[in-house]
Amino acid sequence: MKRNWRIVTAVTAFALLSPALASPALADAPEAAGGPIDPRPSTEELRRHLDWIEKRSRGAVDVTTIGTTNQGRPIFNATVGTGPLRLMYVTQQHGNEPLGTPAALELLEDLGIRPGKDERAVLDRVTLSVVVRANPDGHELDQRYNHDPDADPEYGEPGVGYDPNRYHSPSLAPEDNPVPEAAAVRRQYDAFDPHLVVDYHMQGRYIDDDGEEITASLMWPTAPGVDDGARDLSRQAVAVSAEAMEDSYDGANVSLYPGGDYEGIARNAYGLMGSGSVLVELSATGPDMEQAQIASAYDSMDGLARSAADGSLFEVDPDSADDIPERGDPLPAGQQGQAQPFQVEGDDLD
Ligand SMILES: [Zn+2]
Repeated sequence: MKRNWRIVTAVTAFALLSPALASPALADAPEAAGGPIDPRPSTEELRRHLDWIEKRSRGAVDVTTIGTTNQGRPIFNATVGTGPLRLMYVTQQHGNEPLGTPAALELLEDLGIRPGKDERAVLDRVTLSVVVRANPDGHELDQRYNHDPDADPEYGEPGVGYDPNRYHSPSLAPEDNPVPEAAAVRRQYDAFDPHLVVDYHMQGRYIDDDGEEITASLMWPTAPGVDDGARDLSRQAVAVSAEAMEDSYDGANVSLYPGGDYEGIARNAYGLMGSGSVLVELSATGPDMEQAQIASAYDSMDGLARSAADGSLFEVDPDSADDIPERGDPLPAGQQGQAQPFQVEGDDLD
């Protein structure tokens, strides 16, 4: 809300190699006023940054450890605000999908440290809980899954680990959950009882029907059995997040996400449990666009908090989410660049 994104021009190899294909890389990419944000802080750097925010906030931001990974790393949650509306954000359940995490750190700083009038208005109405990097082992290993060499999972890879975003089923109690990362998120959900959960991921690279690159894709819970109230709030939040992200930078282009109905996916599970629930997938549009994508995730997080605080979120027509276009085709493999790891298992990868 008070962040000043400085405009810098980014030209990428992709843009030079693919002049026929319109790309957000051709747009002016925003960058934080204080200089570039580290897109991939180590988990030790993350811990120090959260400690620093907590101290500088003079208690406004409360950082706790909500779980421990199989490699012994803490899983952090940060809470800020005193309002009756409870929003919960989760970043980086998949370790190699990093960019929601630096966005969350920026938001916690802006809300927690010397908040201005706008920030105080949000904090009076909203309490925000952020699981900042739910899968730190996956981050350190640069892999989607958690770390569990003993895993022989239904969802995941034998000898590597579990897919944390398949182990949130409402019927799966945290004490029975084989995935400590998913259990930690679920425990925080149960303790915090949020009205809205937003889960930040990353996807490969896609274009829309006009050949424009899609920069983010969003979806609400699609599992059968989600009640109308939860579904409507989810769709209102998808519409608000899409608008905030479209406004984030020139070339930002948001679609729906063609996710599955499985109840173990966080998007579906927390909808089934009665909360509004949204999946945000930032596209891996290349190194030169990472600052822009962090800004876009920030604008989603910030826009949702502000719209909850001022009540506009609840006035949005849920059916306006249907105006967001479907995701189009993948970029050809040769143009995927760093997005390729997201493509290996197909398209349906919440
Ligand atoms: Zn993911």
